[in-house]
Amino acid sequence: MASDPRGPARTGFGASRRGTLDQVDDVWDVVIVGAGPAGSAAALRARQLRPDARILLLDRASFPRDKACGDGIAAHARAELATLGLPDLIADHRPARRLSVISPGGARVLATVARPNHVVPRLVFDARLVEAARSRGIEVRRHRVRALAHGGDHVVLDGAVRAGTVIAADGANSAVRRLIGIPASPDRHTAIAVRGYADVPADDDVQLIAMQREGWPAYAWSFPVGDGTANVGFGMLLPELRATGLPGREVLHGRLARLLPHLPARDLRAHHLPLSTGRPKPGAGRVLLAGDAGSFINPLTGEGIYYALLTGRLAAEAAVLSPAGPLPAYRRSLRRALGRHLVTTDLLARASRHPAFIDAAIETAARRGDVFDLLVDVGLGSGTVPPSLAAAVARRWLGSAVRG
Ligand SMILES: Cc1cc2nc3c(=O)[nH]c(=O)nc-3n(C[C@H](O)[C@H](O)[C@H](O)COP(=O)(O)OP(=O)(O)OC[C@H]3O[C@@H](n4cnc5c(N)ncnc54)[C@H](O)[C@@H]3O)c2cc1C
Repeated sequence: MASDPRGPARTGFGASRRGTLDQVDDVWDVVIVGAGPAGSAAALRARQLRPDARILLLDRASFPRDKACGDGIAAHARAELATLGLPDLIADHRPARRLSVISPGGARVLATVARPNHVVPRLVFDARLVEAARSRGIEVRRHRVRALAHGGDHVVLDGAVRAGTVIAADGANSAVRRLIGIPASPDRHTAIAVRGYADVPADDDVQLIAMQREGWPAYAWSFPVGDGTANVGFGMLLPELRATGLPGREVLHGRLARLLPHLPARDLRAHHLPLSTGRPKPGAGRVLLAGDAGSFINPLTGEGIYYALLTGRLAAEAAVLSPAGPLPAYRRSLRRALGRHLVTTDLLARASRHPAFIDAAIETAARRGDVFDLLVDVGLGSGTVPPSLAAAVARRWLGSAVRG
């Protein structure tokens, strides 16, 4: 290729688009696209393992920025924060120890969780993660990635930045995923949810999940933050929403108001949730998909922050420890960390299409603390179900089916 008489651009985007790929001299070992939990975790882990590595964290937004979310941070996510060297990142927020679940048929359980969860608005949580990355020397730039080209041993973003490995952590509508030819999750594996904030008594400390038979699977939640407000929301599967034939906003806002009439919500904001039942291959070439970009959202609960922190960390480990072949390394570590769990949630998601199955599971959890703990572990962490328990729930489910 002819060289550009103006010479290669030094840094930044745009300027070097006029150059050739070979001229790109903004060179990094790992470039992470998206600075949500997955991207920040990836940056922090890469820095931890290879303090000398050149790591660039890009996000189209500047932080603090809001993100439509229930703000529920599972205990498992907190353990990931500790692994990243941030055990106290959310220690100033009140632990949420009690969880109440109402099944689609009205079975109820209210119990204390084995390890507390937290509720931290994403405006706060994500900004803290980005700040932690920045304070450890990660370069954070505001930039929206729009183009990607594969070189032999590298990837070039927007004709300007060259990366040994790209970690795509750019969320549910991942542009990077599209650019490497992996389509978005099919509708049948995608949920949509709206969240808002409502006033609650400051001592309300019960996380409530109220499942709905109408348009099942669907549920509303109220997650008290601990400051006199609660994150409230409602989510359902995309095909069920479309089947109503009504505008999405009308359905989501309307059902939230109907299900939690005592908690009028403000700041309503909706977003898609690509569920792990529709997960694609976890990348292509030198590009690894983490968090929502890789459809890592629990199909039973909509939990995605723990998965984002975990998969961001694993992607970074693959990028810095196996730079010659990051994708096979990432695939292997994903299989080790989440393989059996994802098979479990795939199967449970299929079984839970029958609301009576969930009724049976919640009824069992109401009587047995060990079952409650296990369901929390499957819904919010990387737990699996022992065959004996699956059999107990199945017996109850069949029993209720026989009874009518
Ligand atoms: C209504 C709702 C409620 C939820 N409730 C919970 C909950 O209570 N608990 C839980 O664990 N999970 C919940 N989830 C799921 C959770 O929000 C996601 O799983 C989580 O945010 C995934 O993190 P991430 O880092 O992969 O993506 P994100 O947090 O979406 O971050 C992606 C980042 O990429 C940036 N970006 C996007 N495109 C580009 C681009 N082209 N170039 C540069 N940057 C880009 C964005 O600005 C963003 O900062 C909920 C989801 C929804 C929609």
